[in-house]
Amino acid sequence: MPSYFNPTGVWPGWVRICEFLDEQYDQSKNITATKLAQPPQLVALQHRHWNQIRLNVCMEADRILGNAAHWLMARAAGPNDVAEQRMFMTVDEMTIPFRPDLLVHEGNDVFSLHDGKVTKTWAVRLGGKDEWTMQLNIYAYGCRQKGMKISRLWIEFLLKDWERLGPIREPGRYPEYPLDRLEVEDWGSETTEKIIRNRLGLHAKVADIPDVQLPECTISERWGTQARWAVVGASGKALPKKANFGSRQEAEAAALVSTKPNSVEFRPGENKRCEHYCTVRDFCHQYQKLIQQAPI
Ligand code: SF4
Repeated sequence: MPSYFNPTGVWPGWVRICEFLDEQYDQSKNITATKLAQPPQLVALQHRHWNQIRLNVCMEADRILGNAAHWLMARAAGPNDVAEQRMFMTVDEMTIPFRPDLLVHEGNDVFSLHDGKVTKTWAVRLGGKDEWTMQLNIYAYGCRQKGMKISRLWIEFLLKDWERLGPIREPGRYPEYPLDRLEVEDWGSETTEKIIRNRLGLHAKVADIPDVQLPECTISERWGTQARWAVVGASGKALPKKANFGSRQEAEAAALVSTKPNSVEFRPGENKRCEHYCTVRDFCHQYQKLIQQAPI
């Protein structure tokens, strides 16, 4: 299991909570629906280095909040809903466990599928993460395989960094509320089954590959943004309307025709998952390369 250090001497119970959450995690080689949707490199490194991972308990707030929200959602489920129930699906004779947060009974044996996410505003502004869509569709596939009728797929989100002035500052773009939901596209069983097969293949392929040769996580899997050049005004803020460009040349051409005083500024890309969330970054060769190339 991972070990924890406690730089400020916070209540040791927080460490016990993290250890309890780690015990729930299936660190075996067995694939689960959640692992299927995650990047193969991350899953492989987590499995190989599980007992070497060392974490700062003071940085575990997000995980604790996320699990607390799931726990509360399960307690608020209706009498005919299904909350946090472990189920199994079979694909190509492989048994894959999955545990949807909540199946809400809509009547006539129909359920809608809900997954709780404690997240940041940027993730919702982008319309949700690709991984969320895949995860919910895999759950829906498993439920349908068990004969359940699934109507719609929802992300129930709580935003940690929502600001009251956000919707006023950016009407129509900034989420109106810190607690709301996003509907996820339903791929249907046929498409999802193909995707599950493909993901099973990707995860199986990495089993015998050394760490340094693992397939790299994509920019979307790293929750990354591309580096860009911005035309900024005198205040240092990006000028509105097409202020960001993929190359310095494009930005300089736009700066030349702008009527306001300006300059061109480089904005490095970010890899939010690597930098803030991924527990295996110390073992990840791709991450080491990324931090050597440019500040992330
Ligand atoms: S550190 Fe980044 S690139 Fe490496 S496994 Fe984690 S998410 Fe992928």
